[in-house]
Amino acid sequence: MKYNSPLIHTSQKKILLKFFWLTFFCLFILPLSPPRIIAGAGAEPSRENTRQGEGGSGTAAFRGNGGPAIDPYDPVQISPPPLSPAPEKGPRFAAFPENLLPGEPLTVAYSDDFSGPGSKDFRAVLIDSGGRRLAKAAFFDFTLDEAGQTVKAAILSVPRSAPGEPMTIRIEAANRVIKDLPVLVGKRAFISETIALDEKNTEIRTAPDPKKTGEAEQLWAILSRTGPDIFSGALFTPPVTSTRRTGFFGDRRVFQYVDGSSETSIHTGIDYGVPKGAAVRACASGKVVLARSRIVTGNSVVLEHLPGVYSLYYHLDSIEVSKGDIVDAGVLLGLSGATGLATGPHLHWEIRVSGEYSDPDAFMRRAVLDKDEILSNLKLY
Ligand SMILES: [Zn+2]
Repeated sequence: MKYNSPLIHTSQKKILLKFFWLTFFCLFILPLSPPRIIAGAGAEPSRENTRQGEGGSGTAAFRGNGGPAIDPYDPVQISPPPLSPAPEKGPRFAAFPENLLPGEPLTVAYSDDFSGPGSKDFRAVLIDSGGRRLAKAAFFDFTLDEAGQTVKAAILSVPRSAPGEPMTIRIEAANRVIKDLPVLVGKRAFISETIALDEKNTEIRTAPDPKKTGEAEQLWAILSRTGPDIFSGALFTPPVTSTRRTGFFGDRRVFQYVDGSSETSIHTGIDYGVPKGAAVRACASGKVVLARSRIVTGNSVVLEHLPGVYSLYYHLDSIEVSKGDIVDAGVLLGLSGATGLATGPHLHWEIRVSGEYSDPDAFMRRAVLDKDEILSNLKLY
């Protein structure tokens, strides 16, 4: 008789099934369970490595006592990740100060690991919220430390006429944007004044003179040049000991001529009300790039301090340096006077940055090419 009890058959199947699951559990499930980590003396704490984007919750990496971190679910991972936080990679950029006013200089830099083919043609451009390009400057090499770490740096000046609003510093190549960095330009008010000119000064300002035009072109050729030389990274110092000022940076001046007509112009520097013969000294180390008499500015000296950064000294009674001289900060450049367009003895002191006139006071408050400041401002964007 054929034994065909379904009860016995079912119980046999159940036993077999239990045996199968027990075997499966021992072989496959148990080995996958993370072992308990026993932190012994001197053992480093375990670290968690959460993986994302692989269709499930993150999985915990684990490590034995002091052993390397291993992710059991990741067959691709062969070498352990570093125990210290991963170093930040990639080029770093800086544009500072991030808050500034019209007329003030700002420093732009990027780390040298970003320098490659074509990078020497990069330039920094200040762009307002309406997309207008207000100022630009070329980059130059700047060595940060004795180990030879270098950055590319550029000095810009916010034009005196710039609106107060959020703006962009764009690092760009000939036809592509490399990086946009934010800066906030605040609103700034300037003084307005009317100055009556006598016959001599009216003539200096109004008489058409090809020589005057030639002198202006010659000066522009100097001031618009960005050389490679760094003569000074220090704070600028006042060019005279007197603190009496008769004119301020950015003043709006209405010149009244002898014939009753008038013309408005913007004052591009600081006027110190010093008597004739006061010592005028270099505001920082630099190279004399102009030392001569000019029609409008009288006896004039121009120093180059940094790539694209110049200081100018006008209306001198005498000049004590020659073109090509390398001078230290504080060196006597000449004596004050009233040569050129001047209503009395004074020193007109001016700073130019990539051709743009810039507020001299800002250069006495902040060194525009300070190594530590650049290092602390460079960051990943
Ligand atoms: Zn002046």
